[in-house]
Amino acid sequence: MLVVMRHGATADEVAAVVTVIEEMGYEARPMPGSQRTAVGLVGNDGRVDGSRIAALAGVAEVIHVTKPYKQVSREWQPESTIVTIAPGVQVGGDDVVVMAGPCSVESEEQILTAARMVRAAGASCLRGGAFKPRSSPYSFQGMGKRALELLAMARRETGLAIVTEAMDEQQADLVAEYADCVQVGARNMQNYSLLKHLGGIGKPVLLKRGLAATITELLLSAEYLLASGNDQVILCERGVRSFDTAARNMFDLTAIPIVKQLSHLPIIADPSHATGIRDKVIPMARAAVAAGADGVLVEVHPNPERALSDGAQTLYPEQFAQLVGELRAIAGAIGRSLAPAPGTAAAAIG
Ligand code: PEP
Ligand code: MN
Repeated sequence: MLVVMRHGATADEVAAVVTVIEEMGYEARPMPGSQRTAVGLVGNDGRVDGSRIAALAGVAEVIHVTKPYKQVSREWQPESTIVTIAPGVQVGGDDVVVMAGPCSVESEEQILTAARMVRAAGASCLRGGAFKPRSSPYSFQGMGKRALELLAMARRETGLAIVTEAMDEQQADLVAEYADCVQVGARNMQNYSLLKHLGGIGKPVLLKRGLAATITELLLSAEYLLASGNDQVILCERGVRSFDTAARNMFDLTAIPIVKQLSHLPIIADPSHATGIRDKVIPMARAAVAAGADGVLVEVHPNPERALSDGAQTLYPEQFAQLVGELRAIAGAIGRSLAPAPGTAAAAIG
């Protein structure tokens, strides 16, 4: 439930609303806005009788949030959330952010070459898995902590912000020490203990849509993060399983405008995992930006044939450079721009 105060309501009137909400056994979240203050009621999972609150001085309206999720909804917060991953790297504002890099960190030479190349092409974030969620236990599982050290080295040299995945709570603590943004992969979207843990991690979270998750389930998973204290959440559409085997997944482009309407959280697209096929990544990345995505997450490798994971969907450096130019033009056509290259290593790390 959301209590919207009248324009010019006094601090005492807001405080009285907070007191009544707390007396009713719920938590009150005052949210001062540019026009007027709203007070959110959290802690209920069903309809609350708002009549006692509606009668209080200074209250304009009591809105029952009708969706199963609350804090992630636009009813709760009409203004779009802008997530700051690193100084100068913001997702959800006017700029479209390009995050790129290999599926997995494989060696110092590989990740540094990839970092230099994606930065030169115009990316502002470097991706690369240290802990890999592989379908087979016999596939390459990632270099673990060493990969995180190499990502930090790449950030020092290039100024790129680092996005990398954690699959459990222990990994999340380690990833948070090194990275700027903790990725929750598709297979972990409904790992609720991980989500609750990430609520208190103090780093932005990139939450990918599950393999067979509905948009409502994606937003409910994001709600776990907000409810446990982290409002720096970026959603990611990465395709869902379908009956058709022509592509690795079915890229749900419609999810982008739907999520934008339902939620104030930014949403980016991952056309690499969504299609699984190199030459399909490019048109779908273009489509995602045209559809209003706040960024793209693209797999690119200095030598895709030698990639230890996901080579078939990984772009060649030249393809990636060309794609960034195209995304810049598409962003411009819809009144946005591509995020500028991050500052020097010193500026980015402070
Ligand atoms: C990844 O980004 O490396 C990854 C494993 O993606 P997803 O969780 O979407 O499959
Ligand atoms: Mn991958």
